[in-house]
Amino acid sequence: MEKATVLELLQKARAVRENAYAPYSKFRVGAALLTSDGKIFTGCNVENLAYGSATCAERTGICKAVSEGSRHFTACMITSDLEDWIYPCGNCRQTLAEFGDLTLILTKNEGEETKIMKLSEIHGGSFATMNNLLNKE
Ligand SMILES: [Zn+2]
Repeated sequence: MEKATVLELLQKARAVRENAYAPYSKFRVGAALLTSDGKIFTGCNVENLAYGSATCAERTGICKAVSEGSRHFTACMITSDLEDWIYPCGNCRQTLAEFGDLTLILTKNEGEETKIMKLSEIHGGSFATMNNLLNKE
């Protein structure tokens, strides 16, 4: 992936992180999803007093993209307030896996350093195999 693309994803993920609704955890997360046709969809975490109703940044981005007609993703950039690497939670790993073995681009709260890996490296034996077959167009 070109460095300019990575930097654009980082800029958009950091910008959307500012919109995070996180009054309970105070933990803001931003995600930027790159589609195979070059579109970028962003998402932030949206918490809820009923904790189970909260949505993570990655899943917000997926829902925005799918509802706008995009479902072929190549990469997901994630950034947060952590001084260490931010990884997708288990729910988000499963949701992302539904759409294939995306490239994950992990970041820290500041700087341009990234850790790049395939989703399958942290979500092996995914339940998504059959779903990916069903979703092939
Ligand atoms: Zn999550």
